[in-house]
Amino acid sequence: MMNKTTQLYEGKAKKVFLTDDSDLVIQEFKDDATAFNNKKKGSIADKGVVNNAISCKLFTLLEENGIRTHLVEKLSEREMLCRYLDIIKVEVVVRNIAAGSLVKRYGFAEGTLLEQPIVELYLKNDDLDDPLMNDAHAVALGVATYEEIAVLKNRAEAINLVLRRFFADRKLKLVDFKLEFGRNKGTILLGDEISPDTCRLWDLDTNEKLDKDRFRFDLGGVEDAYSEVQRRVLDLD
Ligand code: UDP
Repeated sequence: MMNKTTQLYEGKAKKVFLTDDSDLVIQEFKDDATAFNNKKKGSIADKGVVNNAISCKLFTLLEENGIRTHLVEKLSEREMLCRYLDIIKVEVVVRNIAAGSLVKRYGFAEGTLLEQPIVELYLKNDDLDDPLMNDAHAVALGVATYEEIAVLKNRAEAINLVLRRFFADRKLKLVDFKLEFGRNKGTILLGDEISPDTCRLWDLDTNEKLDKDRFRFDLGGVEDAYSEVQRRVLDLD
């Protein structure tokens, strides 16, 4: 049995605890939700349970497709046992369809299918509002090397292919998503979570939004949307 020792970190949606094993941490998923860099705060009933289940399933799927992640095993409803990561302070966003900041920043019509996926880098820094950056910024800031950035981009594209097909099989469009990576014993592993908090997912037939945009823009039915994604991802019925 793996015991939580000290709390390493508390973020917006998760807490991370150290364990008796220095290579392992426990991620605990909370129901708290924030948007617009903490300006909007709330809670989504059972989100932690749902996001842990979805993330564990998707990380397992990625592992089955040869993509290394921090997942060791799902420990309980809200807890994921993970390898310890030295988190790279870069958020990697992959986009298949225009939405969110791509629409705001560049004027794409929401819903425009992008011929090629767009991979973007953001600096993981709340005080600076996670600014968009390129490889040179990341290297100049000392957050990653050029080689590491190349690995992150390639890994993000490979993950996109696996996830897109998986979601399509479940009648969901993977519009965009955010990834975080970290270093563990000389290798780069996918970290954090993949859930409706970090992806935009639209129903394949109706384009209904089934993700955190329902919370961001007060569209209602937030809990139902998250559980619908859980139902489809876990092939429940
Ligand atoms: N995203 C995220 N965390 C962030 C910023 C973005 O998980 O701090 C996800 C977001 O849910 C969406 C994708 O990354 O699926 C692209 O987000 P976008 O740049 O459009 O920004 P947002 O509209 O979330 O401000």
